[in-house]
Amino acid sequence: MALPPVPAPGKDLLDTARARIAHFNGHFIDGAWRAQDGESIAVINPADESILTHIAAGGAAEVDLAVAAARRAFENPLWANMPAAQREGLLLRLADLVGENLAEIAVIETLDNGMPFALANAMVGGAVSAIRYNAGWPRRLSGENVAMSVPGNWHGYTTHDALGVAALIVPWNAPFAITCSKVSAALAAGCTVVLKPAELAPLSGMRLAELVKEAGFPDGCVNVVTGLGSDAGAALVAHPGVDKISFTGSTATGKAIAHACVDSMKRLSLELGGKSAVVVFPDADLEKAIPAVAMGIFMNSGQVCAAGSRLFVHEDIHDQFVAGLVAFAEKLTVGDGTADGTALGPLISAGQKERVLRYIEAGKAEGATLAAGGDGDVPADSGYYVRPTIFADAKPEMSIVRDEIFGPVLSVMKFSDENFDDLARRANDSIYGLSAYVWTRNLASAHAMAKRLRAGSVKINGSGMEFALPFGGFRQSGMGRENGSEGVLAFTETKSVMIGWSE
Ligand code: NAD
Repeated sequence: MALPPVPAPGKDLLDTARARIAHFNGHFIDGAWRAQDGESIAVINPADESILTHIAAGGAAEVDLAVAAARRAFENPLWANMPAAQREGLLLRLADLVGENLAEIAVIETLDNGMPFALANAMVGGAVSAIRYNAGWPRRLSGENVAMSVPGNWHGYTTHDALGVAALIVPWNAPFAITCSKVSAALAAGCTVVLKPAELAPLSGMRLAELVKEAGFPDGCVNVVTGLGSDAGAALVAHPGVDKISFTGSTATGKAIAHACVDSMKRLSLELGGKSAVVVFPDADLEKAIPAVAMGIFMNSGQVCAAGSRLFVHEDIHDQFVAGLVAFAEKLTVGDGTADGTALGPLISAGQKERVLRYIEAGKAEGATLAAGGDGDVPADSGYYVRPTIFADAKPEMSIVRDEIFGPVLSVMKFSDENFDDLARRANDSIYGLSAYVWTRNLASAHAMAKRLRAGSVKINGSGMEFALPFGGFRQSGMGRENGSEGVLAFTETKSVMIGWSE
């Protein structure tokens, strides 16, 4: 997906965003900031390792306050009995406010997460679309009339009742977009929420809470508790007042949360990791495919759950394709996301950079051919930068092919015969199944692969996030779906009603 160019943020915009960040004060509970004494967590700008601010290290006590506020809001007749059109209106107002504050939020996202400003603009724009899409649901969550067969006179119908208090736990890689998608789906369904942003990039989620209040939602509908996953996150998962957990993050954390929910049977949606396959047939439009496949792994420095990280290219075009990818990668500017022309920002943290470099060393040691990148040595004194990296001659058993690296590292493999079953078997050979991509001009190849690929999203000849289409994973990429009708229904319980009468 090529992004429209956006000029770098000027000094005034950067100053406004920094002033906004400085004004956040603790947790956002019941419509107001609540300062917390005691421990705090430094939020680092990954572009230069400077401290942006400190956030409160919340735990069980703060989670308790936030869940109580969300419960009161859930039971408040103002919210519980709000006409669907009014709920729609509030969500549309929120979308407008996010749109009006787009540039400032995008700067906050770039400072906090490191992503290039143009990408942050696109992500915040996407968040506006997600909120608008979900704003359409309150008026459409209507259940169905059911034809009844039991003897007598009966009217049978279903309703989709709001689940209650939803805990939304989000990762750092696309924090604002993921947060807005979850928050707007939960509110559209009539839930109230406690959001736990990622400790590595919490700031845009904190800003959203203020905008929710400004939009006119009753206090307590959206609360934010900041802190570590092991403290604030675990306390939310364990809290008896939480009815639903909607989690996006790593597969390892998703499994831990699933285990923790067994006794309470809290409802659970899990959006987890990925190691998505890209298949390029020899008839593909290479002019489009080469830059799209490159940015499909290098966008956001590879820190994208749906990144196409395992590439299968037909032998007839393999060398040309790899040469094209290498030339494209070598032209990408790696640097501070607030600077003009930056295509790849830093990774989120020192730990993430070390992890990615470890995988690059493993790829070399396991015998893959390093075709581009391969080191963290970019011209900057500080910041967590890694160059876009391409390995050719990768093999299915290599760790760079099996594991989710979550960095700008592409592994390329060759295929020779166009047997759809064999090809799909290779593409499906992963514990993950989030997305899959195919490039071909042949309709038969497109349909044959779409049918055989075992992934939650299959995209042919391009990519992009459509909020009306469900998104989620097969296998260990998760449980449940976000977006589309399923994304809102995930915040509801289906109730069946039968009403009898005698004539
Ligand atoms: P992570 O699992 O480390 O953390 C995600 C969130 O969970 C954070 O807010 C963290 O504080 C919290 N957390 C950590 N331990 C917890 C616990 N025990 N209980 C409750 N909460 C806890 O993931 P990450 O490193 O922030 O994100 C990267 C991962 O997210 C990658 O694997 C990526 O593929 C995945 N991801 C998936 C999707 C998707 O839609 N499928 C989207 C984006 C990211």
